[in-house]
Amino acid sequence: MQLYNKLSAKERAELIDQAGKKRLTLSFYQYAKIENPQIFRDHLFLTWDALEVLGRIYVATEGINGQLSLPADRFNEFKAHLDTIDFLKDIRLNIAVEQYNKSFLKLKVKVRNKIVSDGLDDDTFDVTNKGIHLAAEDFNKFIEDENTVLVDMRNHYESEIGHFKNAITPDVDTFRDSLDIIEEDLKDHKEDKNLVMYCTGGIRCEKASAYFKHKGFKNVYQLEGGIIEYTRQVNEQNIENKFLGKNFVFDDRRAEKISDDIIASCHQCGEPFDVHTNCANEACHLLFIQCPKCKEEMENCCSTTCMEINRLPYEEQKELRKGQGNSNDIFKKGRADHLPHKKDLRNIFDHFQKSK
Ligand SMILES: [Zn+2]
Ligand SMILES: [Zn+2]
Repeated sequence: MQLYNKLSAKERAELIDQAGKKRLTLSFYQYAKIENPQIFRDHLFLTWDALEVLGRIYVATEGINGQLSLPADRFNEFKAHLDTIDFLKDIRLNIAVEQYNKSFLKLKVKVRNKIVSDGLDDDTFDVTNKGIHLAAEDFNKFIEDENTVLVDMRNHYESEIGHFKNAITPDVDTFRDSLDIIEEDLKDHKEDKNLVMYCTGGIRCEKASAYFKHKGFKNVYQLEGGIIEYTRQVNEQNIENKFLGKNFVFDDRRAEKISDDIIASCHQCGEPFDVHTNCANEACHLLFIQCPKCKEEMENCCSTTCMEINRLPYEEQKELRKGQGNSNDIFKKGRADHLPHKKDLRNIFDHFQKSK
């Protein structure tokens, strides 16, 4: 019985090409009490591996969070399997706006302590007492209301390339930090303002909205299904799209285009551009925005230092890295002082508060 991924990404990519079948990328999550995550995990792996599912799925005693792809012609079998599981019956599946056959190249089902690393201690508040879900049309009405404060619950590298018109985009490294900043900034408006929040697929708002209610906010709302479901509804129901730019996603597509606006700029030259890249120096791997011109000039590196290191023979690079505790925490390292055009979003946040 094979319970873990065996093929390399390269082998898998070749198989996908050979199969020549259209794959669907989708995501879903559910908070639910799972008594034995390990058994549940093994069951999912066995069933989904047979359905040619690829992706990253987290299972915890608090629920499941999955981002995955599968052949479009096996979708019905997959859905039928979900329906056999109590808490996944009729679950909303967020189907990706832009499809890419190689969004995932491995099937990884992992048991974790939590399905999102949110830094919140669950025992302190009731996570089921969450905000009111808004569908796209209602969400549009709410965000035009001057009594509404709209908050982007994602990290800075995500909101930088795309966000809703008029949204506050806290410049923080962690979800936990953003909660404190938002609470502090809005502490005088806990009862009179509508606090409306959104994230990629809705999962981060599930807990954040419950947290803010616990902190005394009276009017807490969240975008149902996040940006992904919003976009689907906008397209399907012909509703006005109020999202500018791209939606950052956590698979090999990196982002999906929602509107034609380019709201970010190259961190090196400042020209409008919104595609993330990782610094080519393996010891750095910084996630940053780099235009094609700078990419060529800088050899896909974030600094001249990285460029010099990257030119060294591999063995010498390895020697340099020794003892340097290389954390490949690509997202956290998104804030780099040496990048002249890396926007300081915290200033935008302050500015917004003053102009309110
Ligand atoms: Zn540039
Ligand atoms: Zn670098």
